[in-house]
Amino acid sequence: MTVRHFFVRSISPETALTGEEYAHAKNVLRLGVGDEIVLLDGSGREYDAVVCRAEKGALFCHVTGSRPSDKEPRTRVRLLIGALKGDKTEFAVQKATELGVAEIGVFCSRYSSAYMNENKLERLQKVAREAAKQCLRACAPAVTYHADLASALASCEGYANKLFACEFAEKSDVSLASLKADTALAVGSEGGFTEEEFAAARAAGFAGVTLGRRILRAETAAIALTSVVMFALGELG
Ligand code: SAH
Repeated sequence: MTVRHFFVRSISPETALTGEEYAHAKNVLRLGVGDEIVLLDGSGREYDAVVCRAEKGALFCHVTGSRPSDKEPRTRVRLLIGALKGDKTEFAVQKATELGVAEIGVFCSRYSSAYMNENKLERLQKVAREAAKQCLRACAPAVTYHADLASALASCEGYANKLFACEFAEKSDVSLASLKADTALAVGSEGGFTEEEFAAARAAGFAGVTLGRRILRAETAAIALTSVVMFALGELG
């Protein structure tokens, strides 16, 4: 059984688990004094710790050592995904986190019908944290919201590669197999993209890519494109 991982804001020699992490440790996993855990502060390091004191609402953990995590990808990948209906955005965020995505931007576009609000964004951030813990990552991807496609595309400024999954593109503008360096990806929502949106993405430096002759569901397309890119970057296998 792998040692359980917990996110905290900052590390001190005696770090307290509080709030949602405390509830998970205490009520779900029934951890108590003497149990070994790993603490993560989002810096990319992992901290070995032992629960040394239990109080109401807090478990205090004595930090015994630390090391850089080897689970974080060496190359940054940012995924833009259109807001999806029901819990599908959560699904996409969870899978992208497992695949090693560093940042996720959820956007609204011409044909997206799902709406976002603060609560939904917080929920997505929680899903990213839980997925990061579960797959033993040292950092949870930051999840941001963009009210329109233009600002989502602009948020990828500075990425060496920018790929736009276009369901009506007949061929890809770049070869996915030879990708190197940090990469931004854009995948549409259920309603797909318009010709104008594709043109705007190209103007913003995105290359159109096709995922084959079949139309994939948005969440499938997000997972497929992320997987192919992670493989090309040497992060899978
Ligand atoms: N409603 C659209 C399909 C949208 S699919 C239609 O009927 O045509 C949702 C998103 O997944 C698309 O915007 C695109 O980003 C991605 N996608 C799905 N299939 C794809 C494919 N074959 N090639 C590239 N991108 C694809």
